[in-house]
Amino acid sequence: MPGTNLTRDEARERARILAVDGYAVELDLRSALGDSGRFRSLTTLRFRCSEPGADSFADLLAPHVRSVTLNGRELDPAEVFDGSRIALPGLAAENELIVDADCAYSHTGEGLHRFVDPVDGEVYLYTQYEPADARRVFANFEQPDLKAPFAFSVTAPAHWEAFSNSAATGAPEQNDDRSLTWTFAPTQRISTYITAIVAGPYHVDRDHYSRELPDGTTLEIPLGAMCRKSLAQYFDSDEIFTVTKQGLDFFHEEFDYPYPFGKYDQAFVPEYNIGAMENPGCVTFREEFIYRSKVTEAAYESRANVILHEMAHMWFGDLVTMQWWDDLWLKESFADFMGAFSQVAATKYQAGWITFANRRKAWAYRQDQLPTTHPITADIRDLEDAKLNFDGITYAKGAAVLKQLVAYVGRDAFFEGARQYFKRHAFGNTTLDDLLAVLAGTSGRGAEAMSEWSRSWLQTAGVNALTPELTVDAEGRITDFAVLQDAAADHPTLRPHRVAVGLYDLTEDGRLVRSKRVELDVRAEARTAVPELVGTPRPALVLVNDDDLTYCKMRFDEHSLETLRTSLGDIADPLARALCWSAVWNMTRDGLMPARDYLDLVLRFAGRETDIGVLQQAHAQARLSLEQYVAPEGREAAARAVAEGALTELRAALPGSDHQLAWARYFAQTANGDADLRLVEGLLAGTARIDGLDVDQELRWALLQTLVASGRAGDAELTAELQRDNTASGKRLETAARASAPDAATKARTWHAVVETDELPNALLEAEIAGFQQASQRELVAPYAEPYFEVLEKVWAERSIEIALRIVNGLFPRLVSTEATLARTDLWLTEQADAAPALRRLVRECRDDLARALRAQACDAR
Ligand SMILES: [Zn+2]
Repeated sequence: MPGTNLTRDEARERARILAVDGYAVELDLRSALGDSGRFRSLTTLRFRCSEPGADSFADLLAPHVRSVTLNGRELDPAEVFDGSRIALPGLAAENELIVDADCAYSHTGEGLHRFVDPVDGEVYLYTQYEPADARRVFANFEQPDLKAPFAFSVTAPAHWEAFSNSAATGAPEQNDDRSLTWTFAPTQRISTYITAIVAGPYHVDRDHYSRELPDGTTLEIPLGAMCRKSLAQYFDSDEIFTVTKQGLDFFHEEFDYPYPFGKYDQAFVPEYNIGAMENPGCVTFREEFIYRSKVTEAAYESRANVILHEMAHMWFGDLVTMQWWDDLWLKESFADFMGAFSQVAATKYQAGWITFANRRKAWAYRQDQLPTTHPITADIRDLEDAKLNFDGITYAKGAAVLKQLVAYVGRDAFFEGARQYFKRHAFGNTTLDDLLAVLAGTSGRGAEAMSEWSRSWLQTAGVNALTPELTVDAEGRITDFAVLQDAAADHPTLRPHRVAVGLYDLTEDGRLVRSKRVELDVRAEARTAVPELVGTPRPALVLVNDDDLTYCKMRFDEHSLETLRTSLGDIADPLARALCWSAVWNMTRDGLMPARDYLDLVLRFAGRETDIGVLQQAHAQARLSLEQYVAPEGREAAARAVAEGALTELRAALPGSDHQLAWARYFAQTANGDADLRLVEGLLAGTARIDGLDVDQELRWALLQTLVASGRAGDAELTAELQRDNTASGKRLETAARASAPDAATKARTWHAVVETDELPNALLEAEIAGFQQASQRELVAPYAEPYFEVLEKVWAERSIEIALRIVNGLFPRLVSTEATLARTDLWLTEQADAAPALRRLVRECRDDLARALRAQACDAR
């Protein structure tokens, strides 16, 4: 039995001989209201075979198959179906396969997910397939290059709505039992992984977009936005439609290819594993993007970015699709880049590139320094490889490299290349070469230069560090200036970088502003001289990747580093400041700056940080430093200093401001010591107040979790709070808080619920894991280090990959940060050389994080 995997070779062979004419899929979802756990799925699949007589197979993950009919001949399911594949023997030139199956509702977010709303008992369904879970819902050929039109129909309870990629062909038909059958128009030719069904008593808001096209016709796009009924009171669909229309304007202007999928629905769905999914005409988002409590502007900005990222996929990914998962980056890097680009070009969210530089690229830098890093164009042998490749390389590094490409070929050439690419490959599949071919034409750089660029940036792994080197004469003038480039030993590639070097000086009013900017090509060599800067007075600060044109770790000369220590907060330009925050964080991670120095910078300068996203990123990184990078003997003092600093900033922040909320959340997370915790109790009880601070439901949970984790609140308080907020979010936050209680019995119960049963839905499993490991409870979780290594392979074998990923990453004993844990991890890696490569990849990454933490602690102890 092949298991649930599918290899690239198998997919290639199948695509070589098969072509799909179309699917008709009938789903009977009436059972969702009961507890059978299954639904009926009837698929009719018409396809051709270029080698009649050949055998092939279809994919289906289902607990039971009722019948399989191939070209009118009944096949015995017991013989042809093995749980994940249907054998198709002796194909004709033209074939019709009919599969009648009972499929399973999912509670892991993979396939057709079923959720019951605790507020009103209503049932909600939605699908999530990428990379290969459509086969949990209907029989198919689950690979991106066997595109086809899909005709879905859904039978559902009378009070439900149903949505799919295409609009319904008319009003639903009523059946004898009053249920409704919705028939959806056949889709364009698309891949299985972007088909979608959303069904349930969803709340729907509607709007409309229209646009004159160059040929004089008018493009009409009906817009929909959906969420659970119980969230409708918080649903700001106006804002969502505004960003949607701005995006549609932008992409039509730049891509010159009319949106090809008819309507555009955006459904916000519960217990969603990822941010969003670009199903054409039926985009799904995690419903946490609907804000029940006050959030900062950074949250709205982040949501707008995701809306635009998914919209860019309508062209890049949905209209033109990668042939196999090796080129996943083709769509993800592009969408990630376009998300930030269109946000700044077309919406009110002007900080898009700052967030990109500071937050998105932090993800890339981390991933690219793991021992498991890989070139942006990856070698994806099978679906397990594919699943792990939705990572910081594919998204953030790829997008950063596209930003560098735009600096290299120019904005106009880049967009002209995209326009040609869409026209040339519409409804088809592509590889990297297809993109390079159009760019070679539009950029004027030629095929050779483009493949050179591709080799440097796309086909090698690792991040370069760029460092300025200055010599200065007695008058303080630069006599020699160079940019030094280096690379890690295991990924030694040096690259051509298009950069801007910025020189910054202090003004009389104490601000650090740019006095000079030089744009240049850094050669793929260890040292590139910059003669343009000779004769310039030595500046207070040098940024060798000013404006964030390239992808690198930006380092400083000693003089600049001194300036940062005294004046980081004085840098006037928010992007330059964000780049410096990012650079000092990279230095901390690399053990070049003691963690307590980094915390000191946060405590001194974060209070003045105007960009709320940068501030919240600094909070997250400071928290991670405290947990993992501060030397053990310094932890208590550092934790005190951070909590005190957070409280000082909380009291100083403008009442009612985003900054006040960010500091309140940070204080809630870091509070320790009796006085702090009494204040937390007071804020929760309403006996203490901070002017302008609304202690709303989300903040209440954050405060309560801190009290539970420190043993000052427990079951009674949690039960009362859940009564007050008996919602899906409430249940999740209550679960996390409960798992954070500081006693051995709680840890044992949580471990059992996560590892030893398979009953928790994805969202609650994640909450249990989030509560389990608390920085203040190292000794309580230490006994689980050994069991962790013992259960890894069983977890990997028995749980769905989405769940296994969470357990392997979330329960790694990161708080037991000792040489012994490192040695135990190495032992597992040695002994389990034959474990699944994807599992080994995860464990190696956890090991690397731990080794990095130990190096950072050593640096901090010096
Ligand atoms: Zn994407």
